[in-house]
Amino acid sequence: MEAIEVPVLIVGGGGCGLSTSIFLSDHGVAHLLVERHADTSHVPKAHYLNQRTMEIFRQHGLDGSVAEQAAPLEKFGKVRWQTSLTGDGPLDARLIYEMDAFGGGAQREIQAAAGPILPAKLPQLRLEPILRRHAEQRNPGRILFGHELAAFSDDGDRVIAEVRDAGTGVITTVAARYVIAADGGRTVGPALGVEMQGVPGLVDVTTAYFSADLSAWWHEGSIITWFVNPYRPDLSSTLLEMGPTWGKGCEEWGLHFIPGDLGRSDEQAVVSRIREVLGMPGLELTLHRLSHWTVEGVLADRYRVGRVLLAGDAVHRQPPTTGLGLNGGIQDAHNLAWKLAAVLTDRAHDSLLDTYEAERRPLGKLHVDWGLSTWFHHKVMTEAAIGLGPHIPPQRRASVFSAFFDLSPVGTAVRARAAEIFDTHRGECQAHDLEIGFAYEEGAVIPDGSRPPPRAPLRNVYHPTTRPGHLLPHAWLERGGHRLSTHDLTGTATGFALLAGPAGTPWCEAAAQVAEKFSIPIAATRIGSGAECADVDGRWAAVRQITDDGAILVRPDNHVAWRSVSGSENPANVLGNAISRILDHNTT
Ligand SMILES: Cc1cc2nc3c(=O)[nH]c(=O)nc-3n(C[C@H](O)[C@H](O)[C@H](O)COP(=O)(O)OP(=O)(O)OC[C@H]3O[C@@H](n4cnc5c(N)ncnc54)[C@H](O)[C@@H]3O)c2cc1C
Repeated sequence: MEAIEVPVLIVGGGGCGLSTSIFLSDHGVAHLLVERHADTSHVPKAHYLNQRTMEIFRQHGLDGSVAEQAAPLEKFGKVRWQTSLTGDGPLDARLIYEMDAFGGGAQREIQAAAGPILPAKLPQLRLEPILRRHAEQRNPGRILFGHELAAFSDDGDRVIAEVRDAGTGVITTVAARYVIAADGGRTVGPALGVEMQGVPGLVDVTTAYFSADLSAWWHEGSIITWFVNPYRPDLSSTLLEMGPTWGKGCEEWGLHFIPGDLGRSDEQAVVSRIREVLGMPGLELTLHRLSHWTVEGVLADRYRVGRVLLAGDAVHRQPPTTGLGLNGGIQDAHNLAWKLAAVLTDRAHDSLLDTYEAERRPLGKLHVDWGLSTWFHHKVMTEAAIGLGPHIPPQRRASVFSAFFDLSPVGTAVRARAAEIFDTHRGECQAHDLEIGFAYEEGAVIPDGSRPPPRAPLRNVYHPTTRPGHLLPHAWLERGGHRLSTHDLTGTATGFALLAGPAGTPWCEAAAQVAEKFSIPIAATRIGSGAECADVDGRWAAVRQITDDGAILVRPDNHVAWRSVSGSENPANVLGNAISRILDHNTT
């Protein structure tokens, strides 16, 4: 049988692979996706979609479908520490601390100003079917679940892959110009000798996914509730809402705990443990699934091997703290999609794809290191805040909690001290600058010699900037009576955008010439007084960092590629050189 020829083969239909498929479809890139399982994830897994991910979903028309099922910010924007869920004892069901998290509470206003959309919460169990539906609608017949990559080889011009139909065993040969390995690191990377470096196998965690009515005891509004048990540390655990209803009426739950001596598949023992952890011996519950996973912090030594590009968990796996895993994978896909589209339409040289590793790997390293750091910090910080530690023998544990809740002046001091310690946790759950303030220092960008904006060490304060490599700052604009974000000026169809000041007409004219020369769409717009786009609330003027005759070139993924703070004698030449360098065009 003849090989099926496709420009791109995606291996893996998890969050990263399905997102890649949607983004490639929107860029008009033909592709095939193969996923070995018959269905999307049966366990909840990641559930926090940060502001950047939601912006990307908005750009690709996915935000509406996600919002239909997701928890809105007011239903999840806190994290909470409690002694237990329920119980009648003086130390039971006591609130230890609560803080704004992941865009909630006082963070909400800050995030609403920083982007056109807010973060959301939707477990992968519910997100992946949405992504699959959109992927299938945009690429009918080419999203193959129940198909696995069995073998592959790179012959220099193409990758020849053998895809096995899991139902029939039939093998089909696929010839692809590029392969995207979004396989969680299970197949392609190991076969190519990609080394995962870092800290493997930190701790084994079990997640019980179950249904139960906890409405009488559950304190709604928190994305994560940590139970710190006053009597038995082994009963400390983490409880999360998994929907489909959000808040008190939530039907499904995820409970993370360290399995200890529990048999891996002993479901009755797990059900007993859930009841024990929640302090509810008679709780009626239905256990849906158990998942066993290992917390690790590892990064691939390479993101590209020949014609294979690796993304998502295939290149970075970090502790779940700060929620950088799935978000990072979706953002890898977004970075890759427009570059592949440019290369496959001969608008860019293949070397543009090398910038994927140059841009995303340093960020992957930061995410892995940040995830490890916040993971370790979380336990140490919690114990320090409450007054626990190895110096406290088990029999004194309850008295430490009693002292914490004591109404005496000393108890008040203990809680005040704890509040300051808990506040250091903002580096985990208020890391807004890490989520949207990151920059590509090298890659498909042209540095202009300016220095990065100030950075709060805990990365909780985002400073918008148009410095090349950074994400274009969001500002609301008005054009022809319609409100739009600066982010809406780039398109999904491989389009660049040129944002000029109100006196930037020469840049806009240059953009038209350059677009024609390089056959690449550049949507040029002037923003400001008397221009076609109005700066409705003055935010754009506050963040643009160019003069009225300057211009900013923005990539399809909304990162700033280049800027000129002011006008130029020869804008077409200057802009043409910039585009040429970004695409590494051979015709310069
Ligand atoms: C408990 C938990 C909580 C988490 N919380 C968060 C969070 O809040 N936010 C966040 O961003 N991240 C979180 N994560 C991490 C997140 O779940 C992962 O980062 C994410 O699933 C990675 O997506 P992926 O598509 O790269 O890989 P995967 O989800 O692993 O998907 C890879 C797919 O490839 C398929 N595959 C493998 N080999 C082949 C082959 N040979 N042929 C065909 N298909 C193949 C697999 O079957 C799989 O479906 C959490 C993880 C866990 C375990």
